[in-house]
Amino acid sequence: MQKGIKARLYPTIEQQETLNKTFGSCRFVYNHFLAERVRSYKEDETSLSYNKTAHLLTELKRDEDHLWLNEVDSMALQESLRNLDRAYQNFFKGNAGFPKFHSKHNRQSYRTRNQGNGIRIVGNAVRIPKIGLVKYKGLQPFEGTILNATVSKSASGKYYISLCVEMKETVRTNAGCLIGIDVGIKEFYTDSNGNTVSNPKTYSKHEKKLIREQRRLSRKQRGSNNRNKQRIRVAIQHEKIANIRSDFLHKVTTKLADENQVVCVEELNVKGMLHNHHLAKSISDVSWGEFFRLLDYKTAERGGRVVKVPTFYPSSQTCSNCGYKNPLVKDLAIRQWTCPVCGKTHDRDRNAAINILNKGLEVLAS
Ligand SMILES: [Zn+2]
Repeated sequence: MQKGIKARLYPTIEQQETLNKTFGSCRFVYNHFLAERVRSYKEDETSLSYNKTAHLLTELKRDEDHLWLNEVDSMALQESLRNLDRAYQNFFKGNAGFPKFHSKHNRQSYRTRNQGNGIRIVGNAVRIPKIGLVKYKGLQPFEGTILNATVSKSASGKYYISLCVEMKETVRTNAGCLIGIDVGIKEFYTDSNGNTVSNPKTYSKHEKKLIREQRRLSRKQRGSNNRNKQRIRVAIQHEKIANIRSDFLHKVTTKLADENQVVCVEELNVKGMLHNHHLAKSISDVSWGEFFRLLDYKTAERGGRVVKVPTFYPSSQTCSNCGYKNPLVKDLAIRQWTCPVCGKTHDRDRNAAINILNKGLEVLAS
């Protein structure tokens, strides 16, 4: 199994210069050969293969005007060509739009391979080809072989490394419980045991700040220095929100996967998405996709299962005690209701979560 492990890098000024040169060279190679591929297709209706571009790159590096390309990690330049080739393949398969030219204003990155143990951890530093030992923070310990590394610089100027590691097999288990969860609008979710998990409180604070910084950005003149500075402030807020979200999602999915053999959830959270607006909406949209992705793989890692229940199942309106369907509960404002048939009083969300669990177990048995 391969796993991505990310850490923040703290390069020296000198290392930053080399890293920036590598980002620039990789971007140059990518854009140069994208233009070449476009031209080749226009002029002779032939498409350049990866091998052909790799050959042309070797020639380009001998060219007097491009000798500077020899100053950076050669594997990184090759990986740029691979990225370009992959972008083309994705385009032809219909998975993506036509490859775009890379801009120096966005996040910068390059990938390099681990050849001859060129990438390795040495104490609190990671060795990167052509860069040397770079200090890092926040790398979780791992046992496995590093296959490749992606070094990146965020729009706000922070450096990161993402190691792709072939992990040693570890046996993980779960505590064997069964749970249903009802994903929410105001709360993140409520489970069938009656526990509610709320969204991180710090979201709204950073959201407000982000909206403010974005409004300021829209007032700055295009191409001005102030606009550049403001763009960085916006990027920092985006990163803060993304970090909080990532920590939060990892925490809740690890807990669910550790405790449960079966986790039942609704297939799609249409009702939650309809009632969210603007930024809150975009944050929760990203969150749900990531939540399901993490939950799926962490549960599978521990031998458990995620069971998806069809959305059209009326989980909120059905009495989890006797099965009576109460049309009055459709109104989202009703948080608590008493079943007119069996007399049981329900918390809206917990009742839904219990129904999702029961339905999920049915799906699993069929
Ligand atoms: Zn009932």
